Amino acid sequence: MTTRVARVGSLVLGGGNPVVVQTMTNTDTRDVSATLAQIKSCAALGAEIVRVAVPDRAAALALKEIAAESPVPVVADVHFQASLAVESLKNGAKGARINPGNIGGPEKIRSVAEAAGKAGAVLRVGVNMGSLDKEMLAKYGRTPRAMAESALKEVGLVLETGFSNLKVSLKASSVQDTVAAARLFHELSDIPQHLGVTEAGDLIAGVAKSAVALGVLLNEGIGDTVRVSLTGPPEDEVLAAYAILRAAGKRMRGVEFISCPTCGRCEIDLLALLKEVEGRISDIKEPIKVAVMGCRVNGPGEAADADLGIAGGKNKGTLFVKGKKIKDLPYSALAAELERRAREVARETRLEAEKTRE
Ligand code: SF4
Repeated sequence: MTTRVARVGSLVLGGGNPVVVQTMTNTDTRDVSATLAQIKSCAALGAEIVRVAVPDRAAALALKEIAAESPVPVVADVHFQASLAVESLKNGAKGARINPGNIGGPEKIRSVAEAAGKAGAVLRVGVNMGSLDKEMLAKYGRTPRAMAESALKEVGLVLETGFSNLKVSLKASSVQDTVAAARLFHELSDIPQHLGVTEAGDLIAGVAKSAVALGVLLNEGIGDTVRVSLTGPPEDEVLAAYAILRAAGKRMRGVEFISCPTCGRCEIDLLALLKEVEGRISDIKEPIKVAVMGCRVNGPGEAADADLGIAGGKNKGTLFVKGKKIKDLPYSALAAELERRAREVARETRLEAEKTRE
């Protein structure tokens, strides 16, 4: 079923709109400049919503400045205290992530819903396997069914207030439980879903778990927003989310990097080159393909097949642009020249897209 639309400030999600990428800051929200710096660097990489923890009143107050200067909608993550959600929404948050079951009863839920309505904000009903509704836990045990039914019940508590600009998340640390719960909820409701595997782990474990869970669900048409939770910098979460969405054929934003695993034929430091190239051009928003390959076995083919490519040689590399061999360059000059050409290709891609839209 197609989900209904939800609005996070001016951002529209659900209803078949492109899957939205989210992340969450790991700074102390009361530290406005550190939090804003992290939000801005994530937004530059494509984060479209950023969530911040609001554990106390000082954090809710800090949101005033953060939300005013953030380039993307900021969502307040609140537990237990409805007043913090209300305060955050008054201070410019365009959403609040709450668990209606632990926010203090119908009156408190109503106060949060009213504040969200006034702010043009979304409420995210968040259910985790670790925080299930007691009645559902007793009825279904710690199962995906209990997660889906908890979410449905908690969504119902908000809908009773007359507020309906909602999304839900059903998160477990197990991939199988996350997938099963999301599927079940999708059968029961058209409320847009935010997908993610909670406490997924560090970069390798977290990306692997998230890719499997999100890959399955996105392929089934389930999921309106995503977060790749990682124990690590939120910037990595954003890059990983786009990599997963690209692999799932859902979002083509940004640079797709293709690189070989290297082998005994490689005569350049390919990993260092790849890291340098990534560092230089990961901010490009246009969907371009860049191949960084170790040698002349598969290098020229892949490099020529991508929008831009390098095929390594002995302390040098051959640069390809749009399938054409441009020139050989010494190793030390490769990354800078590739960046210059990539920005040109990105600009052409952008102009072409604008022309098509006109
Ligand atoms: S492109 Fe060359 S260096 Fe890279 S894995 Fe293939 S053969 Fe090895």
